[in-house]
Amino acid sequence: MIYFSTNKTSTPVSIKKATLEGLAPDGGLYVPSMVPEFSLPELELLEGGNFTSIAFAIAKKFVGGEIPLDHLGDIIDSCFPFETPLVELEKVTFIEELFSGPTLAFKDYGARFLARLTGYFASEERKLITVLVATSGDTGSAVAYGFQGIPNTRVVLLYPSGKVSRLQEQQLTTAGGNVHALEVLGDFDDCQRLVKQAFIDPELREQLTLTSANSINISRLIPQSFYYAWASLHLKAEHGMQNPVFSVPSGNYGNLTAGVLAMMMGFPIGHFIAASNANDSVTRYLDEGRYEPRPTIPTLSTAMDVGNPSNFARLRHFYNSDYRAMGADITGISVSDEATTAAIRNIYGRYGYIADPHTAVGFHALEEYRKQSGSRSPGIVLSTAHPAKFLEVIEEALEREIEIPERLRVVLEKEKKADLIGTDYRELADFLKQLDR
Ligand SMILES: *Cc1c(COP(=O)(O)O)cnc(C)c1O
Repeated sequence: MIYFSTNKTSTPVSIKKATLEGLAPDGGLYVPSMVPEFSLPELELLEGGNFTSIAFAIAKKFVGGEIPLDHLGDIIDSCFPFETPLVELEKVTFIEELFSGPTLAFKDYGARFLARLTGYFASEERKLITVLVATSGDTGSAVAYGFQGIPNTRVVLLYPSGKVSRLQEQQLTTAGGNVHALEVLGDFDDCQRLVKQAFIDPELREQLTLTSANSINISRLIPQSFYYAWASLHLKAEHGMQNPVFSVPSGNYGNLTAGVLAMMMGFPIGHFIAASNANDSVTRYLDEGRYEPRPTIPTLSTAMDVGNPSNFARLRHFYNSDYRAMGADITGISVSDEATTAAIRNIYGRYGYIADPHTAVGFHALEEYRKQSGSRSPGIVLSTAHPAKFLEVIEEALEREIEIPERLRVVLEKEKKADLIGTDYRELADFLKQLDR
């Protein structure tokens, strides 16, 4: 499979190059030259399959030509040693829990696959790849734990001192081994500026092979299609229901784009809801056909506070920039903080289920969609994080304490290891240069 840039001026590349480069040289995002389709007999064969067999069948189509299949099978097995439960709330309403990975959020799916592919390609090239990431929290922790112990790779994370939650900081600073955390005495913008500067520093690039691991990397997107495919087939096999509506709590729109990819591959998916918080650039685009990104607004569902979503370019590519075509598959619904809190209470009151604020946005959007459209299709809300990650919001909404899972408690008790640096680029450059000594 060949990958080309959404800006269309870079030369098409292999999955190896797309993975190691991240962003295309023309500033565009890599997309597959065509979306591989599953035939009906192929889908029937997969129907009773488990998560990893479905994941493998999809991965094979996207990267099969470049990784020996037995090795790809090992990669898939080691990526997803945890469950992806489809929880039935009531007759036609389900929650797909994507938070059983090491950092308790769905970003583990993308980061773990990207890490293993990067490690494989790095060893093929006989290189040590240095992954450099600026993070405001959740992406960095998934990357830290995703790359932990992966040969031929090491990670340097930059996070703003005092501006991430204690839990996030623990997740960023305790992976150890090949993962180094840098606590920057500045804000997230400083971290991003430092990383950008490193990427254009010729002296540094002579010494290190740098890559980034943010959500624009195509190898983070491909594995996110696995859980849509799995849920759509599992719903059919186990519950006898077809063509569900997926409600996707969205920020940078990587998750939703991966869903669209699964639908285009032929998996039995009926419709999508782009569930956003007050940051509604895409929702407004779906209504009006005009894309007008706005400054970011802080909300309760913090991981979705994105004013100018990075994956929108890819989403638009898949629909040839036709907003009506996009609207035929995707309904945008924006959910206020008040409605989010009410939804957390509602879900708990009705089903005894504790949903995190992002999942609550998705749930409310599904209810709203059913009201607006009269749809009686089965609905699947993607649960993007474990509620214990957003303890304060939940405890305030429900006026009760919630239990912290064991694997989170373990991380909270580990010793923080981070190097402190200022906002001067020399400090970052010096740190990176001494890594090899
Ligand atoms: C990153 C994140 C999102 C948003 O996902 P996108 O792919 O950026 O749209 C939603 N919920 C949680 C908990 C996240 O960490």
